[in-house]
Amino acid sequence: MENVMQSILIVDDSRLNLQILKDILGIDHQIYCATSGKEALTIIISKRVDLILLDVIMPEMDGFEVCRIIKSNPQTKNIPVIFVSYMGEVEDQAKGLEIGAIDFITKPVNPSIIKARVKNHLELKRYRDILEELSMIDGLTGISNRRYLDEVLEKEWRRAVRTGDTLAVVLIDIDFFKKYNDYYGHVAGDECLRKVANSLKNSVKRAGELVARYGGEEFAVVLPSVSKEDALKLGEILRQNVESLNILHAQSEVSPYVTISVGVAAIRPNRESLSANLFSKADKALYQAKEKGRNMVSGESEKHIHEFKPILVSLAGQ
Ligand code: GH3
Ligand code: MG
Ligand code: MG
Repeated sequence: MENVMQSILIVDDSRLNLQILKDILGIDHQIYCATSGKEALTIIISKRVDLILLDVIMPEMDGFEVCRIIKSNPQTKNIPVIFVSYMGEVEDQAKGLEIGAIDFITKPVNPSIIKARVKNHLELKRYRDILEELSMIDGLTGISNRRYLDEVLEKEWRRAVRTGDTLAVVLIDIDFFKKYNDYYGHVAGDECLRKVANSLKNSVKRAGELVARYGGEEFAVVLPSVSKEDALKLGEILRQNVESLNILHAQSEVSPYVTISVGVAAIRPNRESLSANLFSKADKALYQAKEKGRNMVSGESEKHIHEFKPILVSLAGQ
């Protein structure tokens, strides 16, 4: 995980206060400054911000209001907020912490204390980021896991409903993998899963397209704004690339090498349709690819079934 410099957003309507804090904290961190709540909210959604130092008393929108908005948005609610204010009432501090601030620092600020507190909070933030990233990654293969896939799918689904675009998914299942495990052992099976995952990942290059381990020896690809025809073409590329890894599979009934079966579906989501339907269509297509002999790509459709007969299927049984 890369160790990027963390960033702090300082919000204060007094430019002098901004400068003081910037002088104290600017050496080790990327600093953004805002002189109003409105400006702060614009920066938060357009930049990566790790910590916010927020003045309480500001004209128009006060710090409490800004904090409430930050904490009510799922995209920004995990950014820690520290209030920086004159001593004020104990109730003010309590109120700040109640609406989700992580700390309250009083002005005039003591440079050593603010540095130390900021350091502690940023360290916690870094650990939380690492945990969050790890929780989205499949431990065995290093590619995205099912949880992240579900998150991306829901996001892309909502986007497609808004834009009227298509959304495609490709489901991939390794052929005769139980036999592979039984014959070569579980350790070799794990290694095979890693190689296949890598091949899939390297075959899907466009930004916004996601490859994830769906479970066991199954993988899924989410393809925003892609037609079924193009998704079928990609499915065929995935199939060819996995077979050309030339991972020997003596027990396979379709090829001397490890192969995959691929199911493809695409729909134009609307408010009534469900993302689960897209997956069940792809799953049906995958089932068809298995039924028809494996090591092939199939696209489920109400009207007709697409099939790509792999060239190497003729090697089966040799
Ligand atoms: P098909 O061609 O119909 O897909 O047959 P298959 O044998 O691939 O399918 P099946 O679902 O019967 O078996 C899947 C096997 O995948 C069973 C299990 O041992 C293996 N598997 C699942 N997860 C892992 C894993 O993390 N590591 C290893 N080594 N094997 C796994
Ligand atoms: Mg399976
Ligand atoms: Mg399988």
